[in-house]
This record gives sequence, C-alpha cells and structure tokens, in this order.
Amino acid sequence: MKSKPINERSTDAGISRRQMLLAATGTALATTVAGTASLAANKVMGKPEGADANVLDVVVIGAGLAGLTAARDLMQAGRNAFVVLEANDRVGGRTLNHKLAGGHYSEAGGQWVGPGQTAVYDLCRELNIGMFPTYLKGKSVYRAADGSMYAEDAGGTFSVGPELEKVIEKLNELAAEVPSSAPWTAPRAAELDAISLAEFVKPYGLNPLDTLSLDLGLRLTDTIHYQEVSLLYALSRINYAGSYEQLEGFAGGAQEQRIENGSQYISEVLAAGIGDRLRLSTPVRSITEWDSDVVSVHTDNSVFRAREVIMAISPALCNKVAFEPDLPKKRQALQQTWPAFAPGRKTAHVYSRPFWRDAGYNGWLFDIGGEVMWAYDNSPEDGSIGVINAFIYPAMSNDPAVLAPQLAHLYAEAFGEAALDYSEFHDQDWGEEPWCMSCVSPLTPGFLTSGLMEALRAPIGSLVWAGTETAQIWQTYMDGAVRSGHRAALEALSGLASQAQEACL
Ligand SMILES: Cc1cc2nc3c(=O)[nH]c(=O)nc-3n(C[C@H](O)[C@H](O)[C@H](O)COP(=O)(O)OP(=O)(O)OC[C@H]3O[C@@H](n4cnc5c(N)ncnc54)[C@H](O)[C@@H]3O)c2cc1C
Repeated sequence: MKSKPINERSTDAGISRRQMLLAATGTALATTVAGTASLAANKVMGKPEGADANVLDVVVIGAGLAGLTAARDLMQAGRNAFVVLEANDRVGGRTLNHKLAGGHYSEAGGQWVGPGQTAVYDLCRELNIGMFPTYLKGKSVYRAADGSMYAEDAGGTFSVGPELEKVIEKLNELAAEVPSSAPWTAPRAAELDAISLAEFVKPYGLNPLDTLSLDLGLRLTDTIHYQEVSLLYALSRINYAGSYEQLEGFAGGAQEQRIENGSQYISEVLAAGIGDRLRLSTPVRSITEWDSDVVSVHTDNSVFRAREVIMAISPALCNKVAFEPDLPKKRQALQQTWPAFAPGRKTAHVYSRPFWRDAGYNGWLFDIGGEVMWAYDNSPEDGSIGVINAFIYPAMSNDPAVLAPQLAHLYAEAFGEAALDYSEFHDQDWGEEPWCMSCVSPLTPGFLTSGLMEALRAPIGSLVWAGTETAQIWQTYMDGAVRSGHRAALEALSGLASQAQEACL
C-alpha cells in the first residue's frame, strides 16, 4: 500500500502535483476542469485495476446539506460505491423541522434563503422544492426595558437611524476590500481583524435603538453579541452578500424567502435518493491510514474502507474524530481552536390562525433587554395556521411548562389575549445537540489572521473537507453548505481519477 503525500491536491479541484506529473508524462487529465464538465469526465474513470471489491470509492461523513449534496454529485458522476455515515438518527444537521399537527412544520434551525444564494436555489429547483416569501406585512412591536411597548411599521425590516446608516455605508465600503474566500489576504487584514465590530462602531455613538438594530441583526445571523465578532469576519460576510443590507435584510436580502415543507425537507429528499447507502445513528469515531490509498473509517460497530473520505462536518466536530497518523500540526490547531460557542435556541407557538395579522401586526416582537431576542411570524404560506417562532436566550427555563406560558404572556401583551390560546409548543436548543456543538461559527478577532485558515479546505491525503464553514461564499449559510458539498465531491472525484490513472501507469 502506497503512502500519500500530504496536501498533494489543490483546494479548487485544480491540477495536483501528482496530476502535473502525469501531464508531464503525456497522460490525459480527465479532472482538471471545474464544474459539471469535470463531473462528467469523472464518470468515465474506472476503479484502479485489481481494485478490492470491499473498498468503497468514498465515505461521506455527515448527512447535513453538505454531505448529502456531495453524495448526490457522486451518484450523478456514476460513482455509486459510497456510504454516508450520520451520527444522528435523522438527516439535515442544522436544519430541522418541528413537525406540527395537520402535516404543518416550523423550522427550528436554518430557514431563510435570499438573492445570491444560487447554490441552494439551484438545488431546490433540481429537486422540485419551491420557495415562498417571508411574511413581512404590518407593525413590529418593541418592548422597552421598563415594560412599555410601542409598535412601528418599519417596512418589514429592522429600523435604521441616520447614524447607523453612516456605519452601514462605511462597512459596505470596507467590505469591498475583503475577499470572502480568503479574508486573511485583504490588504489591511491584520488591522481589521484586531478589533471587534462593536469597537469599530463605538466612535459613531449610536443611539440605543440603532445599537439594538445592529446587534440584533448580528445575533440573528451569528447568535452572538457584536462585541465578540471580528470586524474582518463581519466584512467578509458583507462582501459575499453584496452589502450589509443584502446580508441582514428581508425583502431583497438573505432572509427574503422560505422553503416549502421546511428546510430539512431538502435533506430528506436528498436522502431518499441515496437509499440504503445512508447509515443513520452511525457516528464516526476515528480514521486511520488517511495517508494511504485506502483509508479506514471506524464507527462503533464497523470499519469502512474507502479511497476518499469527505468530512462534511464543521472543523470543531472534526476535532472529535481521532486521526491516525496525526493530522498536520496546522490542521490540528485549526480544529482544536475553531470557535464553537454560539448556541442558538428557537421556540415555536402554534395557533389556529395568525390572529395578529388581523390587527395589522407582522408578528415581530423585540424584547429590548429581555430574554427574547426576536419573535416572528413563521406561519405557513397560506396562513392556514398561525406560528410564532422566537430566538430566545439560552438562559431561559428549560421546562416547557414554565417557558411556553411565559412566552405566550409576552405575545399576549404585544398582540392580544388570543396569544394565550396556543395548541402546540416546541423548543430547540442547539447548544444541547452533541453533533452540532454550535449553531454557526462566527469568528472572533484574530482568528482569521492566525495563519490557521490555510488548513481549512486544503485536502490532506485522502481527506476532503466540506461543511458550510469551508465554503468560499455564504459560509455559515445553507447555501455555503451546498457549495461546499459540490466542491468536495469534485475533489474526491479528482482523487479517484488520479488513483485510477496512477494504477494505469
Ligand atoms: C438556529 C439556526 C438558524 C439558522 N438560520 C439559517 C438561515 O436562516 N439561513 C441559512 O442559510 N442558514 C441558517 N443556519 C445555518 C445552516 O443551517 C447551516 O449552515 C447548514 O445547515 C450547515 O450544513 P452542513 O451540512 O455544513 O453542516 P451540518 O448541518 O452541521 O451537518 C453535519 C452533519 O454531520 C453529522 N456529524 C457530526 N459529527 C459526525 C460524526 N463524527 N460522524 C457522523 N456524523 C457526524 C451531524 O449530525 C450533522 O447531521 C441556521 C442554523 C441554526 C442552527
């Protein structure tokens, strides 16, 4: 068995050192063109001569959007000898539908999509999954720290005063310099990564409502306080979205639409296509011989042998897997220090109808200084039932008998007594999910320029890295997960093609 050189492939499924060697000897390259053309090219590559029938082409670890997208691409390329190993007893990872009575659902994890997220839109189109607009009509209710309430129609967005407008203008200007695929290469990367977004904003002297608006926007997409987020990181996200408004906005922004049947449905449809190649409740514990042509992937009860492994899990979760031999030092350090401290918690109250709409409310409630970050209308498109979802702080009671009425009383103050008459309550605490660890991975000051990020997506031996964190745009979003799955499949196919070519030499 041959040992594989480390980092022998480029990150973009481009020409590897080994492929360059082959090119120099005049051997045709089937896999150097990115995109569908190279998927098709891979389809014609066979297994290495004398290949062991018990050795799979690929093991995919993780049945979230990234892993399942990669698996679908492998199938489309005719590479059917793979398995997808999923630790949980369900697919979807950080997308999860609360299943409600009457066949309805409410998303407990990722849910919104918007312009520029072409990968997730394309995937849904291919799978025949529709979208519908987020409900935005009417007045939002604000509850001040002293308990007083007022309502305002902000046109389906968070309110923005003139000072915040100046901040946003500057952020948009700075973001143009920060390439989202490699923010650490920006001209002033070190300077921009040395401070938090809050430190950057301080000299502007924002009023409390503007501060709340900025902080909330960030909390809803990153789930942590804007004091904890690197300015460089925030700019890299504005860069891929196109502007702050497109990142944080609803109409015209990343929260513009929802997915029919809920976001987890995408993974359920993908999983149905994969059939019994998917193994649920099968956590991967260790990976050995990743530097060889055949890798061993160990679960509690079995060992899967394969030529390529797609790790479709976040860097922090990769750190829970034991590798033998040890991974290169930089990759180890990346996994060990990857920020995974942003638990998110979402609740859902279900009503016979969205009664708040009758009184001109959009179902949005901002509890300033309280324990609810933001409540919003999450009813189905046809409004046949009413659903109020809320992002709440992890410190709130874990007892549904306490939490459900506590929130309902708050909604009653904002939208009327009918809020007390709910038929179902659901609570999802992402901090409690062992196979998730963190809702998303906002990066703290200094991390992007620590020198570790170069190890984020460069394949190592037979290991290919996927998961939304590794995307080049829309990292932390469902779209980023899908993009990373496509790239990882291509890299794995390139690896398989290289092995087949080597065997022919
Ligand atoms: C509360 C919340 C709100 C969000 N809101 C949005 C939103 O509105 N829009 C948006 O686009 N995105 C949103 N996101 C983010 C989005 O859901 C994620 O970016 C995306 O789902 C990540 O997909 P993934 O495949 O990269 O990773 P994951 O979904 O984390 O999938 C990884 C899978 O790997 C499994 N796994 C982990 N370790 C192992 C192991 N050792 N062995 C086997 N399996 C393993 C896990 O169980 C999981 O199923 C939100 C997320 C949360 C939690």
